Amino acid sequence: MTDLWFTEMHEKDAKFCIKTTKHLHSEKSKFQQIDIYESDTFGRFLTLDGFMMLTEKDEFIYHDMITHTAMAVNPDIKRVLIIGGGDGGTAREILRYPTIEKVDLVEIDERVVRLCQKFLPQTACKLDQDERLHLYFEDGLNFTERAHDSSYDLVLVDSTDPIGPGEGLFTYAFYQNCSRILSEEGILINQHESPYYAEDAYEMRRSHAKIKKTFPIAKVYQFHMPTYPSGHWLFGFASKKYDPIMDLQKDRWLNFGLYTKYYNLELHQGAFMLPTYVKEGLQHA
Ligand code: SAM
Repeated sequence: MTDLWFTEMHEKDAKFCIKTTKHLHSEKSKFQQIDIYESDTFGRFLTLDGFMMLTEKDEFIYHDMITHTAMAVNPDIKRVLIIGGGDGGTAREILRYPTIEKVDLVEIDERVVRLCQKFLPQTACKLDQDERLHLYFEDGLNFTERAHDSSYDLVLVDSTDPIGPGEGLFTYAFYQNCSRILSEEGILINQHESPYYAEDAYEMRRSHAKIKKTFPIAKVYQFHMPTYPSGHWLFGFASKKYDPIMDLQKDRWLNFGLYTKYYNLELHQGAFMLPTYVKEGLQHA
């Protein structure tokens, strides 16, 4: 029997492979190549255009860090916009807060949502189960252009990399719209690439430079993602008012009583303490 391996090139001479037990689905949608595999170690996993999006084994790390960090700084967040995130993991986590009143999820590719509902219920479980959640199938850039001023308290950019459909979500125009549609207490969290390999680090610097020009407070925090290139990944935290460490609302967050497998309040503070080479990279952004 032949072994079937999923392979992603992380550098021109470095690759990451997972031995698959089944290729569950493969299709070319209007926007991208979508594949879903099964494996012994990582469970089921989703790739878009050959790039790893999530695995059942480590998705909790990404989805904890994209949502709870903002909620612990402003526990009064009620109106949330998710851009991308068609696998549903970010929606699942933010909807655990009973105080959240509405979540608009804007995903360019409806096929990602439908296939995750079929093959990845672990992340997609809330996509048609919670009346606070509204799905829109369109480009996030267009959606933010049309949205009203101050209409959200939190924008979560759970996007692919800045190639293909995700490109517009790394532009200055997009960040400016995010700022406009956020309230004065609002927070923007964005998928901020990685500091390690050259191409990812270039995108990290480019996006930080634009966010710094748009928001008075623009910080970056890190987390360990075993299946992403180098395992070292970043989110951006931007706000008009709140500092992620000085304004951390420890007691109020603990009062939510949520169990989180990766996120905790000590990690929250540590995640913003960056290695020297990352700080230098961001300073030169
Ligand atoms: N956690 C993942 C990562 O960083 O690898 C992201 C996962 S999520 C599946 C990314 C989603 O963003 C994809 O489903 C993709 O279709 C969507 N997306 C890409 N560009 C978009 C755009 N311009 N507007 C809305 N959604 C977009």
